[in-house]
Amino acid sequence: MTILVTGGAGYIGSHTCVELLDAGYDVVVVDNYYNSVPAVLDRVEKITGKTLRRYDCDIRDRDGLEKVFSENKIDAVIHFAGLKAVGESTKLPLLYYENNIWGSIVLFEVMEKAGCKKIVFSSSATVYGNNPIPYKEDMPTGDVSSPYGRTKHFIEKILGDVYEADNSWSISLLRYFNPIGAHESGLIGEDPNGIPNNLMPYISRVAIGKLEKLTVFGGDYDTPDGTCIRDYIHVVDLARAHLCAVADILKTTGIEAYNIGNGKGSSVLEIINAFEQASGIKLNYVIGDRRAGDLPAFYADPTKANTRLGWHAEYGVDKMCLDTWNFQRKNPDGIR
Ligand code: NAD
Ligand code: UDP
Repeated sequence: MTILVTGGAGYIGSHTCVELLDAGYDVVVVDNYYNSVPAVLDRVEKITGKTLRRYDCDIRDRDGLEKVFSENKIDAVIHFAGLKAVGESTKLPLLYYENNIWGSIVLFEVMEKAGCKKIVFSSSATVYGNNPIPYKEDMPTGDVSSPYGRTKHFIEKILGDVYEADNSWSISLLRYFNPIGAHESGLIGEDPNGIPNNLMPYISRVAIGKLEKLTVFGGDYDTPDGTCIRDYIHVVDLARAHLCAVADILKTTGIEAYNIGNGKGSSVLEIINAFEQASGIKLNYVIGDRRAGDLPAFYADPTKANTRLGWHAEYGVDKMCLDTWNFQRKNPDGIR
């Protein structure tokens, strides 16, 4: 079986390529390296001892994508390619809509033309907005606070309409919670350009001495320690969820959404503490103002993915912190 992975050189995509290759799939990657470097794919090959086919191609490039489908017999697609910075999306909404939504439409059209109607889509817990916790898949979605989040919501809806029009599609919408951690080898991990927006990469850059101190965004929330609560999930557990979803779409038709989270919340202070334990480094941090748009607490009810896909998260926050720190120490200047 051959799987096309869009955005396969990125953080989650690269870990998923490792799991796919290890499981015996042939892998074709399409990436424009907007937020990654080709060396990541060399490292995927080093970890697995296997090779993958790669195309330096933008998903908005219809001719380029058609070439990928004509040169390979693609059985299913895992669609990671997209822009993901929430703050940036509020400044550059048109770029986000054009890249994420238009890019996805071009991909779906090329898939349809090639007769490949099986796709796993990277969605996000952000589609739930202000629902009660834990989030469940049948809750209403779409009350979203950023253009980035709206691209995820709209693409879910587009795929819903595609399925309504043609029931031979098989579509899995994976709603990720907060992926952190890295591959145990320390060869691949999260390597954002510039100053990180997300908590874990910020913490690890403070620990390695590249950033001076972490600001905890708000210490006065209505949570046990006053800091925000999220459902952190090890990126390798998340990658493995894609294998379960691919196995499922290969044998069925339909459209289903799944929460991919641990089902447990951790506060910012708990993550800081776990990282300090894992690294043996005291982190320099201050409690600052709340960040606009942050919800106080959310986490997944992952029962549907557990029971229907047979997927279970294996790793806790200690392992997530250990692997993040291992990656950061081995790659102080990122992946070159
Ligand atoms: P990432 O930026 O590391 O990976 C995305 C990859 O897609 C990058 O390699 C980038 O170069 C590529 N890409 C972007 N636009 C492209 C285009 N037009 N054509 C071809 N390639 C393109 O991000 P990630 O953290 O690995 O996230 C992967 C997916 O998961 C994204 O869709 C993201 O929105 C979604 N997601 C991520 C998180 C998270 O916290 N990391 C949470 C929920 C959902
Ligand atoms: N956070 C923080 N300081 C930072 C970055 C993030 O306190 O420098 C907090 C943020 O307020 C949220 C949690 O860490 O409560 C996770 O934030 P992240 O941006 O990683 O993910 P989000 O849940 O917002 O998608």
